[in-house]
This record gives sequence, C-alpha cells and structure tokens, in this order.
Amino acid sequence: MTDTVNHLKDRISGLQKKCIQFEELNSELQERLIELYSLYQISFALSLTFDFNEVLKSVKRLYKKNFKINELSIMLLDEKTNNLKIVASYGLRTALRNSSPRLEAKNIFYAALKRKKHIYISDLSAETKYSYFNNFNSSRNGSFLSIPLIPEKCAPLGVISLCRKQVNAFSPSEIELLLKLAVQVANVIEQTLLFKKTKELSITDELTGIYNRRYFRQRLEREVTRSKRYKRPLTAVMIDIDHFKKYNDINGHLLGDEVLKRVAQLLENNIRKADILARYGGEEFILLLPEIDKEHAYQVAEKLRKTIEKSDFPKQEKLPYKKLTISLGFSTLLEDTYNAHELLEFADIALYEAKKRGRNRFEGYSADLSDDMKDNKMLSMDNDAL
Ligand code: GH3
Ligand code: MG
Ligand code: MG
Repeated sequence: MTDTVNHLKDRISGLQKKCIQFEELNSELQERLIELYSLYQISFALSLTFDFNEVLKSVKRLYKKNFKINELSIMLLDEKTNNLKIVASYGLRTALRNSSPRLEAKNIFYAALKRKKHIYISDLSAETKYSYFNNFNSSRNGSFLSIPLIPEKCAPLGVISLCRKQVNAFSPSEIELLLKLAVQVANVIEQTLLFKKTKELSITDELTGIYNRRYFRQRLEREVTRSKRYKRPLTAVMIDIDHFKKYNDINGHLLGDEVLKRVAQLLENNIRKADILARYGGEEFILLLPEIDKEHAYQVAEKLRKTIEKSDFPKQEKLPYKKLTISLGFSTLLEDTYNAHELLEFADIALYEAKKRGRNRFEGYSADLSDDMKDNKMLSMDNDAL
C-alpha cells in the first residue's frame, strides 16, 4: 500500500516538475513569438515605406503597443556637430522633448553610445551616476533602459531609450529581446537614412548643393500643369553670372567654383520656400516662381540682382567693372506662353537681351524680343551667305 502511495507521490512530483518545465517553455515560446512578431512588424513597416518619419512612427507604435513602454525617445547623432538630437519620442515632458542631451561622459545617452552597450537603471529614484536624471528628472521613479542604435556592420547611429513607471520593470530576458529589436530598428533607420541621402543626391547639384537640372525638369512639368489647371501665375527666371569666363581666367577655376557655390547660396537665401532654384548649366541658374506674375517678377529679379551686386566675392576687383554681377531674364506662364518649353526659351531670350543691354540687369520677356531675335538670325544668315 505504502509502495503504491510512494509511487504515486513520485509520479505527481514528476508531473509537477514537467508542468513547471512546460510553463517555462511556454513563457520562452511566448517571448520568442513576441520577438518574431516584433521583428516581423518592423520589417513590414519598412516594406511599406522608405519615408523616415513614417518609419519612426511605426517604431513608436511597436514599443507602445507590444512592450507597454511609457516613455520613449530616439536620438540620432548629428553628422556635422556630433551631438545627439531627439528625432522621435512619446511620453516625455516638453522640457525634455525640446532639449538636447549634453555631450559629456556622465550623460547616460552619450555613455551608452560610447560604450556601445546598453545601460539599465532598475530604480530611477536611486540613480545618482548619470547626468540626464540629475538635470531634469530628480523626482522620477521607474526603470530606464538606454540602448545604442548600431546597425549590423555599421557605426552607431544614436540611442533609443525606454522608460517604464515601475521599478525593476525589465527582466534580463526582456532586455535581451529589446537589444535584438534595437539592432533591427537601427537597420531600418540606417536604410531609410541611406534612401533619403541617395534621393537627395540624385536631385542635387554636386558643387552647389541646390537642385540639379533633371529635378528642375520634373518640377517644371508639375508646376506648369498646376498653373494651367488653377489659372495661377508661374514665372521662370534664367540667371547667368556676368563675365565669368574672365573671372576664371584671372583667378583660376577653383576660386570660380567657390564663387558658384556662394552665388547659389545667396540666391537660395533670398527666395521663398515654395520657389525652386536649380543649377541649369555651368554658371547658369534657373528659378521657378509659383504664384508670381510678371509684375511681381520684376521685384524678385531686382532683389536678386542687388543681392549679388552688394555681396563681396574674392578677387572681384580684377573684373572689368570690379564687381561680380548677374544678369536675369524672365518669362511668365499664361502671360507670355502656355507651354513649358517656350517658358524657358523666352526667359533665355530675355536674359540674352539683358546681356545685350549691358549686363548686371534684368529683362522681362516680350514678343518683340522674339521678333528682334528672328531678325538678328536672318541678318547673320544673310551675312553667312555673302
Ligand atoms: P557673359 O557675361 O556673357 O555671361 O560672359 P561669360 O564669360 O560669363 O559667359 P561664357 O558663356 O562665355 O562663359 C561661361 C564660363 O563659365 C565658362 C567657364 O569658364 C565658366 N564655367 C562654367 N561652368 C563652370 C564650373 O563648374 N566651374 C567654374 N569655375 N567655371 C565654370
Ligand atoms: Mg552662360
Ligand atoms: Mg555668364
């Protein structure tokens, strides 16, 4: 009898052990499932969009919904300044959201980034080591995890930080999972940034950093269609540096390149956000002004002409008029033509007129300029025939 009881007891204890094992296995499987699901979600988010902001939105949703994170911040290193900047967040107080962490070894974000290793604080109220909390959050409770964002085979991009209101809220196995997830997040951000950069490169002019001719052509089509559909004005301005060959001959091509960059920057700084400035050729720029009719184009052209005339350029005193200047010609859609090709052609004719009349000036297109041009061509053909 006792044998049977003992036997049964052994079996029960064996079954209990198995049950615990199953429970452990089950919770491990569940974690794996969350892991797979999170990784799936993040790759899915990427497959939907290459838009940087959309990706950040998906990442935030993922942490909020799947991991019940109360506060999150994603900071990226600014390539130029090497400072960390918050690019996405939720749950942060405004003061934190609008601040940038100070570049110092004590700062938790820089510390995690420098060590290339996460930092976990299980109880914020007892934290004294890292500056982020002393500065802003001395009265805070909860647990905090800062993980460097390091894409596979790449340099660190920034830091993702997660906060829960309870103390000891992140278990070691969950931290393991969050570390894996951070690699995926870093990969996604890296790819999106790369995509953004490639896109920017394909539409910008290498030397001056403004739009290139190809991009301008695309925008021109779009703007012309819009202008015609809504009967809104659109002006194209062709801009050319005066005596630039001379400038290069006297001062060298390298200095010439610097001048091109500076002229592009000055023009860019003196136009509206909606205007489209592109490098059209060697020392020629084209500017598209939506919502600007002929009457107002005069004001824009004069402002740009004056800006360049007033600016200092290296060794400009060696030029014939001791100043670097530009000439401008413009033409307006719906007033001069209904056709994109002619819009540019007419702006070019007006520019030619500005050059003819002495440079450092602007001209608006008018039909008699085309007639003059035709007459000149006929004349030169007659001369050729002689
Ligand atoms: P104009 O007043 O009639 O416009 O005279 P210009 O000398 O500016 O005109 P032209 O068309 O005869 O010469 C343009 C010069 O622009 C030729 C070349 O030396 C210079 N140029 C074109 N592209 C570049 C460039 O990328 N870098 C530099 N440094 N110079 C360039
Ligand atoms: Mg030229
Ligand atoms: Mg020129």
